[in-house]
Amino acid sequence: MGSVVAIVKTSSNPDIAEIREKVREIVNYLGGWEKFLHTGDRVLLKPNAGVVAGPETARNTDPRLVRAVVLELQQCGIKEIFIGESSVVGVNTREALNASGIEQVARDTGAVLLDLKGEYIEVTVQKPLQLSRIKIAKRTLEVDVIINLPKLKTICATPVSLGMKNLKGLLPDIEKKRFHYTDLNKAIVDLNKVIKPTLTIIDGIIASEMYSSRETNLLVGGTDIVAVDSVGARIIDVKPDKVDYLRLAAEHGLGESNPAKIQVKGCSIKEVFQPLTQAPDRYTAFANMFPEVRIIDGGACSGCVSTLYLALKNSRDRGLLKKYQELKIAIGPRVELNSEGNDVIFLGNCLKRYKDRHFIPGCPFIFLDFMTYLEKGIK
Ligand code: SF4
Repeated sequence: MGSVVAIVKTSSNPDIAEIREKVREIVNYLGGWEKFLHTGDRVLLKPNAGVVAGPETARNTDPRLVRAVVLELQQCGIKEIFIGESSVVGVNTREALNASGIEQVARDTGAVLLDLKGEYIEVTVQKPLQLSRIKIAKRTLEVDVIINLPKLKTICATPVSLGMKNLKGLLPDIEKKRFHYTDLNKAIVDLNKVIKPTLTIIDGIIASEMYSSRETNLLVGGTDIVAVDSVGARIIDVKPDKVDYLRLAAEHGLGESNPAKIQVKGCSIKEVFQPLTQAPDRYTAFANMFPEVRIIDGGACSGCVSTLYLALKNSRDRGLLKKYQELKIAIGPRVELNSEGNDVIFLGNCLKRYKDRHFIPGCPFIFLDFMTYLEKGIK
């Protein structure tokens, strides 16, 4: 039997002591902390803190999980513990870490926070699918152990966002943008060829289901990131072979996605199975959810797509969409509109060439600006 993945259940509102116990349970299924840590190791925790949002939104990794892992590491004698993130394009990492509650964890425990948008090093990808060289945050390459702490998520840009995709938060913004202008799925596989976390633990205490919170009360962990993501996907009713980067990663030998070759320990997938709402494809989902909106798709990256989803959802909640029969929105760098387009809202800096029309800047654009625009009314 190839890879081992552990699934543990948590209670509805677990405290730190319980989460530590659950983390230890996972690690023990995998061989114990001593298998992964050595005296003097420098350990980087990579939570998902992509956006400026509080723990109640479940958009970022639960700070309780980050705290539990830091305390476990300290109990094992690890002195140099870093918590690093490079938030979504255009988002200030410090603000995201602060809002997520993770900055407080660092303050309380003495772990060192790193904004990974800073210095980077370009590394070569062996047998690349898409990118022969990738710029990686320099600090990532200076540690001995990476512990990946992604959120259990369904999103617009890909069917699931779990461990493999969470590693995009080790890239400077310039590289994240390049990922979205190319084949994102292949680029994620290439990234996972050069960065190999020692351990991945998915935070499914409260999942993020298409940008809303949903209690799922579980953690999933393992050393084979492809196997962990495959099990995480199956728990929320997503077939791993429908997630392009997972399928490609398995095909290219990065890890195991075949259920017959993954040994699941702790709970079974059946015991914790909880389907989460998924986007059939990003704009089909928008069309179904917001029939009063027509999207002109120019291949926007996930920063703008996610922001647009939030902007539309909040606009609807405030009744701002009611007055539009067909609200036209252009998004992404490849939009081409000539004489038409006076009634279109152009979103994001890559459409700056339309700045004389209805244009909302930002990379990604700011969703509050979008709502202000709707409040004023499009003429
Ligand atoms: S403006 Fe939006 S679509 Fe364009 S690069 Fe920035 S985040 Fe991506």
